[in-house]
Amino acid sequence: MSLAAAFVRVSTGSQDETSQVKAINRAARERGITIVKTFRLKGYSASKGTQEPALREAIADIQRGEYETLIVTESSRLDRREDLDAQAEILLVIRSAGGDVVSLTEPNFGKTDFAGRIITLVAQHANAEKSKTVKSTSYRGMTMVRDNKALHGKLPTYWKTKGKRYAKQAYCADPQAVNDVYVRIARGESVASVGRAHDLYNQSIRNLIRFEAHHTGVIECSYTYEGVTEKWIHEVTPVVDSALWWSANKVLDANKTSARVNKGGRPIRSPATWLSGILPCPGCGGKLYINASLTPAGNPRTPKLYCAGTPKKRLSCKRFNPCDALPVIELVEEMFGGDTTEILAFQRVAGNAHELGELKASLRKIQARLSATEDDDKLDALITERKAIKARIEEFVVVPDNYDYAPTGQTVAERWISGDESVKRKMLRAVRESLGMILALHDGQPRIVIGTDPQGATAEADGIVDLGDGLCFRRHTSQAA
Ligand SMILES: [Zn+2]
Repeated sequence: MSLAAAFVRVSTGSQDETSQVKAINRAARERGITIVKTFRLKGYSASKGTQEPALREAIADIQRGEYETLIVTESSRLDRREDLDAQAEILLVIRSAGGDVVSLTEPNFGKTDFAGRIITLVAQHANAEKSKTVKSTSYRGMTMVRDNKALHGKLPTYWKTKGKRYAKQAYCADPQAVNDVYVRIARGESVASVGRAHDLYNQSIRNLIRFEAHHTGVIECSYTYEGVTEKWIHEVTPVVDSALWWSANKVLDANKTSARVNKGGRPIRSPATWLSGILPCPGCGGKLYINASLTPAGNPRTPKLYCAGTPKKRLSCKRFNPCDALPVIELVEEMFGGDTTEILAFQRVAGNAHELGELKASLRKIQARLSATEDDDKLDALITERKAIKARIEEFVVVPDNYDYAPTGQTVAERWISGDESVKRKMLRAVRESLGMILALHDGQPRIVIGTDPQGATAEADGIVDLGDGLCFRRHTSQAA
């Protein structure tokens, strides 16, 4: 019979000491080991190396021959320092004193074979890594940030941080640019215009204007840990005069009228017709929109197709002269409204597995009715029906399902005419994406050319236009109107 000591460590309340002791006692009985001593280390964190005196005592015991084995539930109970050398050292000292370590959850721990040693080292390394990650996300790190009055949180554009982790200091990297943004907004320049000048999105401009630390020099930081929120003040150098800050923010507030609230539609502007934003600009590749709103006096405008550039800049390239929209709309109406191409749907064209399912279902139904029926004639009829269905199921030959595009009975024209604005936009987009669709002007006469991809890429070989929802149609390329 061999003798051993149990090594139990509970770091901070969460781990159960008695469960560790129980597990060790059970394992010792199974192995025929008698535990003669138990080390209980409470409230000690191995990452600080405070269990070293206990370890030294255990090693001395082993050297005196009081026992030869140290039993732990897992090797992290022994040591969790990042120092792999120290971990190897402990194992080596115990070994050279004639003892060994048994880890219940790591059967290979302390094995003398080479692979066992490697596994042991890997396991110890993983423990060291675990200790590191726990540290990186720990509350302690955040208290260090708080004690340093360091930055915690997001900064607007033109702001950066310097300094080490836990002690990050925020600073404005370009005070001149920030002041320029404030001056422009305060003067009444539009957010979009300022965004263009600084190559920033509109929201970045708004966030910049709203950032209070620009004039207060104070960023309020907060961190919530287990329901408790801690707040601290991070000081920065102010870069904007308070009066300027106030007037620029006043301009943004004035813009927040109910008419400007996004009502869930297109965020930038609502389409005047289904053609707005569909055709690419022949000049720059941006999008052509239709201006069909009322004039300030309340009169309808002549709808014009005009270039509004790319979504970020929203600036006309000025190479495309606005043209009347109505002739173009009529052209598209004619093309799609007169197109008798059949719309196809992806559906089953062969196969009968579903019929077998139906037969089996009707068999279950008959069985249910059999138990509920008392009328003899009805019972006879049900039994006959049941026999017939059983026979059909037995001789059923399954034909594998086969899917293909099959006509839905609807034509492109029918879908176009019956569809609302969103259906029409979807069809136009599908044609543009699959085949290419551009506006060409010849002697002032608009023409819609389909099948010439503006990027020069060849359209899909079989001319399939995917309408989404499993619908599509085939179209011959190079069709023009
Ligand atoms: Zn353009």
